[in-house]
Amino acid sequence: MPVQFSRIRIAGFKSFAEPAVVEILPGLTGIVGPNGCGKSNVVEALRWAMGETSAKSLRGGEMDDVIFAGTAARAARNIAEVTLRLDETLGSAPSPFHEAPELEISRRIERGNGSVYRINGRETRARDVQTLFNDLATGAHSSGLVSQGRVGALVAAKPDERRLLLEEAAGITGLHARRHEAELKLRAAEANLERAEDLRGQLDVQLESLKRQARQANRYRAISGLVRAADAELMALQRARAEALRATANAAFVAAQAAISDFTIRATETATEATSAAAALPAFRAGEGEARTALERHRIAGEALAAEFEAVCSALARRNGPLASIDIARILEVLADRHFLDVPFSSLADGAT
Ligand code: ATP
Repeated sequence: MPVQFSRIRIAGFKSFAEPAVVEILPGLTGIVGPNGCGKSNVVEALRWAMGETSAKSLRGGEMDDVIFAGTAARAARNIAEVTLRLDETLGSAPSPFHEAPELEISRRIERGNGSVYRINGRETRARDVQTLFNDLATGAHSSGLVSQGRVGALVAAKPDERRLLLEEAAGITGLHARRHEAELKLRAAEANLERAEDLRGQLDVQLESLKRQARQANRYRAISGLVRAADAELMALQRARAEALRATANAAFVAAQAAISDFTIRATETATEATSAAAALPAFRAGEGEARTALERHRIAGEALAAEFEAVCSALARRNGPLASIDIARILEVLADRHFLDVPFSSLADGAT
């Protein structure tokens, strides 16, 4: 049994604001309606779900135009979805759907977000859907889909265009599509290879530069190791010097502390002495006053004594002749033996005679 389209479900696509299901029963299925009721939209929904990429061929400016745009009575939609059901697909579909007895292929578009394809609920690429229909000798551009005015175009077709028709009838369109895809892949692989070669060239240049940098880094590591060792030595020396200075400073500190305590003791002693001296000072002052008084008294007495001595000498001279004959030494001896203040000179002179 050949593969059969058994159902089309259209929702939000063009004039189909509400979901509509078209059952395609065995035999001939016709859609009848007045002009502009949406008959062509059904065929377009079929082609769109099979992977049509040209918005123009769907009578739109861009792909979002297939979404229901609203009418005076209904708001616009943001999503359109068309689902095709295929029966008797066992052994006809490419892997991994080769074993599936029926397929449900859907395309869903969200305004501004592009299309998402699913085969039996599994998300897939547009190209896989297109290839699947090519393998089934149909598709969005299949000559099996004859739209308005296309019959005349086929009659007048050029040999190349007819060849496409014959190839499709022979069921090798899928192979062509695969070959095309393989060629695209090959070209992409060649481009990748070239890019990889370019990259390899760039990487070689980078490798050289990296090797140079690695050599520099090694040299830097070695030199910085030496610098670190020298730094460590220098710091050890500085530390030893600092330790020695600290020891000297410590010794000086201890000596200074000892000197301070010595000075403190001496200062205490001196203060004590000063206190004692200050205490003794009034007595000394009093003694000094007394001594001064005594001195003055002695000076006055001395002066009186001297005057008396003069007088005695004069009297002696008058009585005994010149003074030279007087025994002065004897007088002084007497003065020394007796306290001269207590003994008047007149009595001395009397005694001397
Ligand atoms: P004819 O027999 O004249 O070709 P038809 O029955 O095939 O007509 P279609 O051309 O399929 O009708 O449908 C045209 C209708 O679909 C128009 O009324 C148009 O307003 C409506 N339509 C197309 N695109 C949209 C859209 N994005 N949103 C809402 N309505 C749309």
